[in-house]
Amino acid sequence: MGAPSYERSSPRDLVYDVATAKNPDGSKYKLDIATNTLVTKVNFDTTGEKPKATGVDYLFGESLYRANPRASLTEDGGIPGSVSRSREAILYDGTFNTPQILKLSGVGPADELEKFNVPVIKNLPGMGTNLQDKQTPTYLHRYELGVTAEVSSDFVLVEKCCYLADGDECYDQYINGEGALKGPYTIGGLAVGYFMTSSQAEGEHDIWVGGLPAIDEIRPLDGSSFTQVWPPRNVTDDDAALREWIAEEAWGHHASCLCPIGADGDPMAVLDSSFRVRGIDGLRVVDASAFPKVVGTFPVLSIYLMSEKSADVILADLAA
Ligand SMILES: Cc1cc2nc3c(=O)[nH]c(=O)nc-3n(C[C@H](O)[C@H](O)[C@H](O)COP(=O)(O)OP(=O)(O)OC[C@H]3O[C@@H](n4cnc5c(N)ncnc54)[C@H](O)[C@@H]3O)c2cc1C
Repeated sequence: MGAPSYERSSPRDLVYDVATAKNPDGSKYKLDIATNTLVTKVNFDTTGEKPKATGVDYLFGESLYRANPRASLTEDGGIPGSVSRSREAILYDGTFNTPQILKLSGVGPADELEKFNVPVIKNLPGMGTNLQDKQTPTYLHRYELGVTAEVSSDFVLVEKCCYLADGDECYDQYINGEGALKGPYTIGGLAVGYFMTSSQAEGEHDIWVGGLPAIDEIRPLDGSSFTQVWPPRNVTDDDAALREWIAEEAWGHHASCLCPIGADGDPMAVLDSSFRVRGIDGLRVVDASAFPKVVGTFPVLSIYLMSEKSADVILADLAA
């Protein structure tokens, strides 16, 4: 592992770099990205013993997904198109959309598909089940709550930051500094984070606490005393009111596991350990829906690891 570069990066940068990369002979590296393109269906060749994914149908146009708040602004239903796969199709449309597309394509619980007159390509009873990060006693710990406090002095870490406004010394430091001297903009925004084990924990820690400095709201971890702003004192002084506040304010955003990887013989398994959709040729799923159990505190790192793993198994299959 090399020395840290202290530079910000994102999956978007990686995808962009690959899409614009050149082969040694100067030709474009083979990754095409279609924006404003909504996949609606996976197509199958059903003439063999096993259905084989042959490609996808899509609609081209802006904000076509009906759950998109901008969808009502679109005037038409999009321009239909389709694309064929050369080797296999890999879905990574996220926890809810991957099983939705598969069900609309005929892959899922047969009784549910029949109810909506979707021709069944493959009965997979586990598809769309197993949602995690939902309000059950076991997964309640995935809920997030925001609290706000004021302190009496400036937060030293960000006192010179004005978030790209004129005279932003932190930005100058980020651009001109070297290594760790690049300053506060090299971190993700969290000034502090730690795990706690509550009296309700079943073994490991079950609470993660993080602190974000917000402009003019929360400042230093310099020992200043905090003044509670939200929730108000009358809420935290009353157990019943606090419970109600939590029920009103808590929100979940680590939904996962609707297309779970599972063992051979497990009737609820949707994927095998190589991310292949069971009972279908040429189709894989690589996103948060593939986990059998909700992963560690924040899922993105595990999703990156899953992506790396899937690249390994796909390359190994290509080489076989
Ligand atoms: C507000 C919020 C904050 C979060 N903060 C954190 C955090 O701090 N740390 C952390 O680890 N996790 C965080 N998460 C969770 C994390 O973002 C998700 O778990 C993760 O993005 C899931 O990755 P994915 O690849 O499975 O799906 P996604 O990231 O949802 O990617 C799916 C992609 O598929 C596209 N898509 C969907 N349907 C179609 C279709 N039909 N056709 C074409 N494209 C389609 C979508 O537009 C999307 O780009 C947060 C989530 C939310 C909502």
